Amino acid sequence: MFDTILIANRGEIACRVIKTARAMGIRTVAVYSEADANARHVRLADEAHLIGPAPARESYLRGDRLIAVAKRTGAKAIHPGYGFLSENAGFAEACAANDIVFIGPPVEAIRSMGLKDAAKAIMEQAGVPVVPGYHGENQDDDYLAEAADRIGYPVLIKAVAGGGGKGMRRVDSAADFADALAAARREAAGAFGDDRVLIEKFITKPRHIEIQVFADSQGNAVHLFERDCSLQRRHQKVVEEAPAPDMPDAVRAAMGQAAVTAAKAIGYEGAGTVEFIADVADGLRADGFYFMEMNTRLQVEHPVTEMITGQDLVEWQLRVAAGEPLPRAQDELAVRGHAVEVRLYAEDPGRGFLPATGRLLRLAFPEEDDNVRIDTGVEEGDEVSVHYDPMIAKVIAWDEDRGAALRRLSGALAATAVAGVTSNLSFLARCLAHPAFRAGDVDTGFIDRHLDTLVPAPAPASDRVLALAVLDHLLRLDERYREMAVRSGDPYSPWACADGWRLNGETDLLVRFEDGDKLHEVRVSLTREGYRLALPGGEMAVAGERLPGGDIAADLGGDRIRASVVRTGDEVYLMHRGETRKLRYYDPGVAADEVAGGAGTITAPMPGKVTKVVVKAGDAVRAGQPILVLEAMKMEHTLTAPGDGLVESLACSEGEQVEEGATLAVIKESDEA
Ligand code: ADP
Ligand code: ADP
Ligand code: MG
Repeated sequence: MFDTILIANRGEIACRVIKTARAMGIRTVAVYSEADANARHVRLADEAHLIGPAPARESYLRGDRLIAVAKRTGAKAIHPGYGFLSENAGFAEACAANDIVFIGPPVEAIRSMGLKDAAKAIMEQAGVPVVPGYHGENQDDDYLAEAADRIGYPVLIKAVAGGGGKGMRRVDSAADFADALAAARREAAGAFGDDRVLIEKFITKPRHIEIQVFADSQGNAVHLFERDCSLQRRHQKVVEEAPAPDMPDAVRAAMGQAAVTAAKAIGYEGAGTVEFIADVADGLRADGFYFMEMNTRLQVEHPVTEMITGQDLVEWQLRVAAGEPLPRAQDELAVRGHAVEVRLYAEDPGRGFLPATGRLLRLAFPEEDDNVRIDTGVEEGDEVSVHYDPMIAKVIAWDEDRGAALRRLSGALAATAVAGVTSNLSFLARCLAHPAFRAGDVDTGFIDRHLDTLVPAPAPASDRVLALAVLDHLLRLDERYREMAVRSGDPYSPWACADGWRLNGETDLLVRFEDGDKLHEVRVSLTREGYRLALPGGEMAVAGERLPGGDIAADLGGDRIRASVVRTGDEVYLMHRGETRKLRYYDPGVAADEVAGGAGTITAPMPGKVTKVVVKAGDAVRAGQPILVLEAMKMEHTLTAPGDGLVESLACSEGEQVEEGATLAVIKESDEA
C-alpha cells in the first residue's frame, strides 16, 4: 500500500478521500488554488501545497504542477476525485511517465469511454444495448438534421465529449433543430473544447439507473448493484438512491451483467459507473434499458452504494490501485436496506436555479451517525465562489427500507440550516416529501413536471416568520441596551432610549421588514406579560431568548420553537425546519435610495461571459424573448426581455466578461412593440 497519496481535487470529494486514507494510515497531500487557501480540504490534509490562481485551468487542471508536487512530497499515487482531471487520459499518461500511480482505470479505458460516440460503438460491438441514434463522424448541420428526422422527434443532441449534463439539448421538432444544435455546440466548445455532437432518440419516460462496477488488475470484475438517479434538473442529478425503487430481480441481474460485460470489454480496472437509461413506458424490463455512457471514476453519488453494501469504495480504489485483488467477490456482496442522497447546492430555485455565491454565514448539519452521513467541503464562514461547482454538501440517509430512509433524510434536512447563500434546501425537502416520489413513481421528467409544487411561488412571510424576525430584532435591541448600560455604568442612562425604544413600555415600537417587494409593519407593545405584536393575522404574545451559538428559543403565542436567525447588515435569514426566509430590516431613514435596475433593464445575475447577443439596438422585443446568453459557472443562462418594448441600448458584446449586477441591455417601452 502507498505511504503517501496526493489528492488532485478540492471540496467534498477531496475531504472524502482524505478520510479513508487517514483511516488506512496513508499520509495525504492536498493541493489548493489561491481561492482555496483556507478551504476545508486544506485544513484536513497532512500537508497542502499551493498550485496556482483561482481559475481551475491555472490550478486544479495543471497536471504538470500536480505531478511536481507529488514528486516533491514523495506521493506515489494521485487520486483525481471526480471532475477536473479524473477522466483525462493525458494526465493519467503523464502520471505513468513519472512513475506515479493514477488511482483510476488504465489510460486506454479512459480514452475509449471518454467520447460518447466511440463508447457507444464499443458497447454495441460487445453486445450491450445502446440508445438508438446517430453517433458517426459526419458533423454537417444538414446531415445531422436529416439524421434527427430519421430517428424521429423528440431527439436529444449530446456533446460527444460531454459530461455533467452540459452540451445537451432536447429537440421536439425539426423547426427547433438548427438553434438547438448551435446552442449545444457552443456549450460543448466552451466546456470541453470540442463541439462534436451525437443525436439520440429521446426516451420520453426514462429512468436513469446506473451500475457501480469495480475491476482489479487480476482480471476480476464485480458490480455493486444499482443507483437510481432519475430525479434530475437539466440532466443533472439532484436526488440519488440505492437500490432503485421497485427494481425486479431479473432486471437487476441483467443490468449488472451488462455493466460487467461493458467493463470487461475495455479491460477496466478500478471504480467505474455504467449509466443506463431505462424506458419505463411499460415498466422496468430486462429488455428495456440501454447503455448511455460510462464514467471512469468515482461518482458523486457513491455514498448510497457504500451505505447499502457496507463497503468503502475509496478503500477499494486504493487497494486496486496498489495491485491488490478486489476485497470481495460477487457472491460476497449483498444489498442491505435503502439509502438516499440529496445534493445541497448554492443555487436559487426561485430564479431558475441560478447558481448563487457568497459567504456561508450559517451552515449547520445534524450530527452524523449510522443512519445519517454528511459529505461536505465547506464550513460555516467559508465562501462559495464563482470559480467552482456550487455544491455545498451531500446529505445521505440509510434505513431498513425506502420509506424509513426517506423519513430519515427529511429529518436530516429539517436539521440543516444554510444562510448567507441561497440554497436549494427547501426544494430538496419538497422533492423528498412529494407523494409521487414517496410512492417511487420516478422518471427523469419528475422535477419539471412537478415544478409548481416543488418551487412554489413565494408567499408573503407568515405571521410566525414575522414574529421571529421581530423577536430577533427585540433581542438585539435588548442586548445593545444592556451593553451600552454596562459601558456607561448607569443602568438608567439615556441610552435606554436608543431607537426610540424604552423597556419601560411607554412607547410602542414599529418594526418594518421588506419581503421581496412587500413591506410588513409590526407594532410592538410591552405588556406586563412581555411583548405583544400586532401581526397581519392578529395579535401574538412573544417571548424568547438567544441560545449560545446564535439560535433563538422562541415562544410564539404559546408555540415553543427553536429557530436559527442570522442577521447581516439589514438582511435577516430565518431558518426553521429546513425552510429559510430572507427579510430585510427596513429603516425608513435610509429607504428608497437605490432601486436596482428599472423594469426594462437586464443586469448580469452573476459574473460570467456573454456568449451570444441575440438582438440589436432598435429591435422590437416581446416579454420573455431571449436577449442574450450568459455563460457562468459552467452553464449557459438565457436572459430574456422583462417586458415588451424596443432595445434601447446594448451594454455588452459577445465574448465579453461581465461583473455581477452589470447592466447588459436596456429595453424601453414602446407602442410599436
Ligand atoms: P455525470 O458525469 O453523469 O454527471 P456525476 O453526477 O458524478 O456524473 O457528476 C460529475 C461531477 O463532476 C458533476 O457534479 C460536476 O459538477 C463535476 N464536474 C464536472 N466537471 C468539473 C470541473 N471541471 N470542475 C469541477 N467539477 C466538475
Ligand atoms: P452526461 O455525460 O452529461 O452525464 P449522459 O449521457 O449521462 O450525459 O446523460 C445525462 C442525463 O440526460 C441522463 O441521466 C438522462 O436523464 C438524460 N438522457 C440522456 N440520454 C437520454 C435519452 N436518449 N433520452 C432521454 N433522456 C436522456
Ligand atoms: Mg452521465
